[in-house]
Amino acid sequence: MSDAPESFDCRNCGHHVAGEPADHHGWCKACRTVVVKRSAAWAVLPAVVVVAAYIWLLTYFGLLDSIFIIVWIALGVALGWVAFKVARRVFFEVIRNRGVKPPTTN
Ligand SMILES: [Zn+2]
Repeated sequence: MSDAPESFDCRNCGHHVAGEPADHHGWCKACRTVVVKRSAAWAVLPAVVVVAAYIWLLTYFGLLDSIFIIVWIALGVALGWVAFKVARRVFFEVIRNRGVKPPTTN
C-alpha cells in the first residue's frame, strides 16, 4: 500500500480528509461513526425480541421457579448480548452498503 495514510477522499461523503486513517472501506471517521451509532440503535430491537422470547420460554416451561434461576438469568443476559452483537454486525454491513448521508462537518 503506497497510499498516503493521513490524507484521502472518503468513499461515502467524498470529503477530502486529512489527519486520520481511512478504514478498510475508505470511509472517514465521521461517516463510520454514523453507521456505528445507527446499527447499534437498530440492534437493540432483535436483542429485545430474543430476550423476550427467552423469558416467554422460561415462563412456559415453569423454569422461573427453578433453583437455577440465576443460571437462567445469566444465560438470558448472555443470549441478549450475543443477539445484540450479531445484529449490530449485520446492520452495520447493511447500513454501510446502502450508504449514509454525509455527516455535517464543522
Ligand atoms: Zn466520509
